[in-house]
Amino acid sequence: MKQKRHGHNGEFRHKHSLGQNFIEDEFLLEQLAELSLVTKEDSVLEIGPGFGALTKPLARRAKQIVSLEIDQTLFPILNVALEHYDNAKVVHGDVMKTDLSQLVEEAFGSECSLRVAANLPYYITTDVLTKLLLTLPQAKSIAVMIQKEVGDKLLAQPGDEGYGPLAILCQYYCEVRRALDVPAACFAPPPKVDSSFMALERRMDMPCRASDEAYFLRLVKGAFAMRRKTLVNNLISCFPIDRAQAVAAIEAVGLAAQCRAEEVSIEQFCRLSDEIARIGE
Ligand code: SAM
Repeated sequence: MKQKRHGHNGEFRHKHSLGQNFIEDEFLLEQLAELSLVTKEDSVLEIGPGFGALTKPLARRAKQIVSLEIDQTLFPILNVALEHYDNAKVVHGDVMKTDLSQLVEEAFGSECSLRVAANLPYYITTDVLTKLLLTLPQAKSIAVMIQKEVGDKLLAQPGDEGYGPLAILCQYYCEVRRALDVPAACFAPPPKVDSSFMALERRMDMPCRASDEAYFLRLVKGAFAMRRKTLVNNLISCFPIDRAQAVAAIEAVGLAAQCRAEEVSIEQFCRLSDEIARIGE
């Protein structure tokens, strides 16, 4: 569905399929830029600038900013909106198909203090967050507007309903905070759901660390593969180990043989990953 928009940006037709729910409230935009923790030392990657509404307050705080936008029809509007911002650059591309570390390196060089900020298109929230966390480890923070419900998932603890691979991935690498709740009415057009602006700050000292992070991430994904199955059943269908080995590994980290992935803490997943990697050697 496309919604026509009149006003200072002419007759732009919002593309629902691209998650184009824009923010116009100047006070809110300033607040979001402030909560993004951006300072004059920072180089910022923004995903989806839209009309450049958030780009401007970010650019005023940052050393420089590069914004990645998929919708080429926004470029004439962006060019006007950002004409007085010499430190802002807009690049055309799909965040899911772009090599983000190359983009950042080309735009800012290899020695920058990087932060990410975005009012994300909600149809790719999980994929974008996963990509940012795994491919831009140098980013000091990732501040993103997402669906409120997904924000709950990012904060979920073992035993909570939304606890799963996304919570574990985010909390493993970052300290996660809900910086601000934002009602649907603050967007144009308003989405069907309320939103939260979430601040993820990369951990300097990680409380727990898996010896092989790629293996750990594979384990977490596998452990939640079939939600109704027990951890042991998920493990034996995802890894080349038998039931007795899986039970031994689970018990070695202090868990009950019949437990489910939803009950396992990040620290226990780290130890379980080391244990199973050892069995598989
Ligand atoms: N930053 C603006 C604001 O806050 O008003 C717009 C945010 S809007 C929620 C999401 C933006 O992401 C839109 O401009 C949309 O065109 C863009 N977008 C959608 N999918 C994208 C993708 N795969 N890669 C890059 N940008 C995308």
